[in-house]
This record gives sequence, structure tokens and C-alpha cells, in this order.
Amino acid sequence: MSTTGDRTGARPHVVLLPSAGMGHLVPFTRLAVTLSAGHGCDVSVVAVLPTVSSAESRHLEALFAARPAVRRLDVRLAPFDESEFPGADPFFLRFEAMRRSAPLLGPLLAAAGAAALVTDVALASVVLPVARERGVPCHVLFTSSAAMLSFCAFFPTYLNASRGGGGVGDVDVPGVYRIPRSSVPQALHDPKHLFTQQFVENGRGLVDAAGILVNTFDALEPETIAALREGTVVPGFPPVFAVGPLLPARFPAEEEHARDPADYMRWLDAQPALSVVYVSFGSRNAISPDQLRQLAAGLEVSGHRFLWVVKSTVVDRDDAAGLGELLGDGFLERVQGRALVTKGWVEQEEILQHVSVGLFLSHCGWNSVTEAAASGVPVLAWPRSGDQRINAAVVARGGLGAWEERWSWNGEERLVSGEEVAEKIKAVMADEVAGKKAAKLGGAAAAATAIGGTTYLSLAEFVGRCRDSH
Ligand code: UDP
Ligand code: UDP
Repeated sequence: MSTTGDRTGARPHVVLLPSAGMGHLVPFTRLAVTLSAGHGCDVSVVAVLPTVSSAESRHLEALFAARPAVRRLDVRLAPFDESEFPGADPFFLRFEAMRRSAPLLGPLLAAAGAAALVTDVALASVVLPVARERGVPCHVLFTSSAAMLSFCAFFPTYLNASRGGGGVGDVDVPGVYRIPRSSVPQALHDPKHLFTQQFVENGRGLVDAAGILVNTFDALEPETIAALREGTVVPGFPPVFAVGPLLPARFPAEEEHARDPADYMRWLDAQPALSVVYVSFGSRNAISPDQLRQLAAGLEVSGHRFLWVVKSTVVDRDDAAGLGELLGDGFLERVQGRALVTKGWVEQEEILQHVSVGLFLSHCGWNSVTEAAASGVPVLAWPRSGDQRINAAVVARGGLGAWEERWSWNGEERLVSGEEVAEKIKAVMADEVAGKKAAKLGGAAAAATAIGGTTYLSLAEFVGRCRDSH
């Protein structure tokens, strides 16, 4: 197999560079499959091993095993002394290690004969100059909402304007809407935070990209996408390709690993239509033991059936506590029959597409939001950190579900009580209008990704540019 792709430009060779964490890796593997199978590209994915979590390494192995046409480009990181950042989040540390290794990419791009590079936003500001030096057009894949993209792009301007002015307040993104101070990602209130430094540099760098791919679709965030494209958020902003919802790609090796998939799917099969609340806070959000217990109480008191994926640590490899210990004595026995609780990895898209699922209680990691939208399942938003409140606002504004803004997030002392959780679940489960609106968005997502839809055309335009750049 040629490593240089098709030099005629008929099948442009696109190199994809994901960063760390399932939330970043998943959209990249979906884009890899979409470009390779549906849009006539030769695709390579850069793999940095070992990954931070087991889920990431399984996912990468499963991708390469299932899709031999997608090539793998291995990169070893340059040595990096993590003790410079005591106590930092392991995923942010990996972003930093990858950022410092960016020069290694130059020779890799040249050897691969890349027609185009798509980098994760977390690496954008350091990768863009390396690609420019090699004459390879570099796009950015933004793995969160267009609302978060507009915030990220505008934030450096906001900081310049408010210099010396007592911390980050409400951020009024031009042409979009006001992001209240309480929705600003926690880390950004600390200018010395590693994430803040990366985020501001990447935000500044975005204008130098050849284009920005964002995992959203026009019907979900119409005003925000328009404001970005019109240059209202940041003048001279590069072309924005709304390429979402990036469609799930199934990899057999990963499915085999999932906790006996037949188990929870069989359980769902036995439940009435729209009766189950699916509860998950993503792949890397630890919830405090006290809050976990309150959530357990809320689910129990709601009286509804539920499927709950419990997570109590940031990195899956560290997760050793038993469910009984986490949720309190007797809980699992009391809900037996109407609930399935697991600590394992589940195939989330399969669950969301199941007819028995009527509500998704979600932290609003952006992949989860797009998967709910694609499946037409309403979301009850309980954001915990980072971009999740900004995403929760998209859920509420876009008609995908409800957000109880008073509910606390990481770093706030207040516990949300079991009664509050139960009341809200009951209210949203009973809200037929919410269900209809979410189903309508599901239809709009399907129309966007179908041949001739807005997402399909955005992808085709992006690929056309890669071809022309040969
Ligand atoms: N996911 C999954 N099974 C799990 C937990 C997570 O399939 O048990 C997937 C989920 O479908 C989504 C991704 O992992 O595609 C998590 O990304 P998201 O942006 O929702 O949240 P993050 O984990 O980055 O906070
Ligand atoms: N983002 C980022 N790093 C940057 C600039 C932007 O991660 O330097 C985006 C990215 O799309 C991510 C969101 O902002 O999804 C940040 O969300 P969060 O704080 O939850 O971090 P994550 O865990 O998703 O990396």
C-alpha cells in the first residue's frame, strides 16, 4: 500500500491528529470512518501510545482492526516532566506533553505525503505553525459545540478588553449570546491554570487555520454557526464546516469488550417503550461519593426504570470501588427489577437508539449531546465541569431537553438532593412536548447527514478543498 496517498488528488490523503480522552478521540475516529468510507479520502490517524485511559487504547485498536483502510501513524512523545504541574488533570497533562512534541509531526507529515491535516483543537496553536512550515493546509476539528467554539474564539479578545479587571465575568459573545460567569469552564477563572494557558493560545490560533470542522449541525445551533461564518464572533474567522452529528462507527473488537452487551440490551428489550431513564456522566467525570448517593436516592424515589453507568474516578484504570460500597447498602436490592446499574463500559449509541429509552440524564459532554440529538432522545442536563454548562445551554435553547441551572457542578459545595433529582426526572419524563421536540431534532440530524444534507455538503466542501490543495 502506498504511504503517500493518491497524488492525482482523486483520493486526498488526510491525516487526523486527535488528542487525549474519549471525548476527543471518539469524534476523530468517526471523522476517519466518514472521510474514508463516505467521502473518498485516504485517511491516517496519528496514535500516541500509551494512551491515558484503557478505553482510548481499546478504541484505537478496535478502529485499526475494523478499518484496515485507515492507516496508523505512531508517534512517540518527547520526554516530559509531569512534576512541573503537580496535581494537574491527567488528560490536560497529556495535552501539554503532546503540545511540546508538536515539532515531531513535521517529518511525519512529510513522510506521509499528507494533502491536509486535521488537528484537535487542544493542539491547534502549536500544530498550525508546524503544518505551515511543511506547506500542509491545517484544519481544526472542534470536538465541542459551536457555542463553545464561539466562546473559545472570542475569549482572547474578551481577556484583552478586560485586562486587569478583576477576573472573568459574563462573556458576551458577539452575534451569539451572553455566556454567564457561572457557565465559564471552572479552570478559566485561574489565569495560571494549564488548561487556561492552552485554551487562550488555541483560541488565538484558530484564525490561522485553513478551516474549522465542528461536530454540530445547522438545525441544532443555527444562530451560532451563522455568527461564526459571518465573522461576527471574530472578524476574518476561517470557514466553518458543520459536520455533525458525526455518525457512530461500530468496531467489533470494542463491542466484544463491552460488559456482556447482550446483558443490558436484553434488559432494555424487556422494558416498555420510552420508560427508561439512561444515566451517564461520560467517560471521565468523577462524582463525589455524597452526590452519588443523592443521585441514587433520586433515581430510586422517581419511581422510573433506569439504566445507570456509574463512574467514580477520572481515569478508568483507577476505578476499583464496588457498586454496593459506592451506592450504599441495600440500594441495588431495592431497585432490582426496574434498574440496571453497571460500572462497565457500555455501547452508548446502541442504548440511546433503543426504543425503551425515554430520557438521558447526561453531563452534556458534547459527544453525548450529539448522540442524543441523533437518536431523538430528550436530555436532562446536569453539567459537571468544563464546557458542559455551555453545552447544556445549547440543549435547552435547541429544544433537545431541559437544564436545571441551579444544580451544582464540580467545585461547588452544595449537594443536589435526591428529592430535587426525583422531581425533575418525573417532570421531564411526563413532558410530551419535550419528547416531540427531541424527536424532531433527531429527524433534522438524519436529514443533515443524508446525501445532499447540510452536514453532507459541508464534508464534501471540506474534501474538495483538500483535493484542490494537492
Ligand atoms: N461512552 C460510551 N460508553 C460509556 C461511556 C462513554 O460509549 O460507558 C462514549 C459516549 O457515547 C461518548 C464518549 O464516550 O461518545 C464520551 O464523550 P462525551 O463528550 O460525551 O463526554 P466525556 O467523556 O468526554 O466527558
Ligand atoms: N478546547 C479544548 N482545549 C483547548 C481549546 C478548546 O479542549 O485548548 C475545547 C474542546 O472542544 C473541549 C472544550 O473546549 O471539548 C473544553 O472542555 P473541557 O474543559 O470539558 O475539556 P475536555 O475534557 O473536553 O478536554
